[in-house]
Amino acid sequence: MTSFKTLDDLGDVAGKRVLVRVDLNVPMADGAVSDDTRLRSTLPTVTELADKDAIVLLLAHFGRPKGEPRADMSLRQIVPAYEAVLGRPVRFIDWEGDAEAVAALAPGEIAILENSRFFGGEEKNDPAVAGRFAGLGDFYVNDAFSAAHRAHASTEAIARLLPAFAGRAMEAELTALEKALGAPERPVAAVVGGAKVSTKLDVLRHLVARVDHLIIGGGMANTFLAARGVDVGKSLAEHELGATALEILDAAERAGCTVHLPYDVVVAKEFAPNPPSLRTCNVHEIAADEMILDVGPAAVEALADVLKTCRTLVWNGPLGAFETPPFDAATVALACIAAALTQGNDLVSVAGGGDTVAALNQAGVADDFSFVSTAGGAFLEWMEGKELPGVAALTTVNQTSEDE
Ligand code: ADP
Ligand code: MG
Repeated sequence: MTSFKTLDDLGDVAGKRVLVRVDLNVPMADGAVSDDTRLRSTLPTVTELADKDAIVLLLAHFGRPKGEPRADMSLRQIVPAYEAVLGRPVRFIDWEGDAEAVAALAPGEIAILENSRFFGGEEKNDPAVAGRFAGLGDFYVNDAFSAAHRAHASTEAIARLLPAFAGRAMEAELTALEKALGAPERPVAAVVGGAKVSTKLDVLRHLVARVDHLIIGGGMANTFLAARGVDVGKSLAEHELGATALEILDAAERAGCTVHLPYDVVVAKEFAPNPPSLRTCNVHEIAADEMILDVGPAAVEALADVLKTCRTLVWNGPLGAFETPPFDAATVALACIAAALTQGNDLVSVAGGGDTVAALNQAGVADDFSFVSTAGGAFLEWMEGKELPGVAALTTVNQTSEDE
């Protein structure tokens, strides 16, 4: 089995320079940070290291400067927001005179290094750039799971140059993902929703071989229903992917994975909030001028019964067009059931995906899931079963004699 070292393995760091790869790529509006979620997720690692008197050097990218130093993509502008969430002073270190600036830091001090992407070699995983970063530190800690799907100098090559450890946020994410799909308690259910099958083909193919129940919702369910001969009217559907959808259903059957498609749906003739044409019907009763915008209540009840038999749930993608009322009903209802089962210790629930997180927040249950990943692309690649380069670089293969 594979494992990784954590801050517990780091030992005495007093006076040592620890390079911590974090995700500071926060959204900005009018020169201010508009969502500080990513900044807050770095706090456990950064405060722990600073409290142990390490010299904490934060390494991160910001925007897409493509190797050109640009004032509007300088991490300098993040410093005030970071100081505010951290409640401690934070220094800023430019790529000029950086070695001297680092040498002047005292134990327990925290500094943000300038945008790693001001070096063109960062995104090329250039060992020379990794070496330049590595020269500033004694240890490397990666706490940015959300950047781990990219093999970049600050996420991959550097982990081979310094003793490398997972930070607390990375550790929590990897532990949760391992529990959900690596070595889960069975039965396992997966909910896959969202707009299109085409964006999640690899997710579906990976999951059918690993989960006991695959619950398909959202626009992608329409493609599967259409492939099975259901007339979905003017629903969003990728009719050209019919054969692919049938292949996935076949693969599921061979693997003993039960696929759940909705048998009742919420439809409307126009896509608008609470449209007058709104109705619930059986999937075989959709009119030519109607579109499916949510999973129906009878199907949600059946899905709730499925979740009650499961020990593990992994969820990506909303079941309906949740941004527009009342097409969030199925997503909210099933999310509330999953949250209640989780709180009752009957279910381990892991969810991720930009819209999925927004939908769970809308349902008010994000905190009641076992783990909600905000990692976006990295979470999806993990759902596809891909090895993430930033994680692989932290991972050591433990070989015991029994394994040989
Ligand atoms: P995530 O960001 O969590 O990975 P996706 O981006 O794949 O999720 O999908 C979310 C989008 O899918 C939402 O914008 C939602 O409105 C849309 N969607 C879900 N169901 C439907 C549907 N039946 N018809 C049209 N759009 C849908
Ligand atoms: Mg999305």
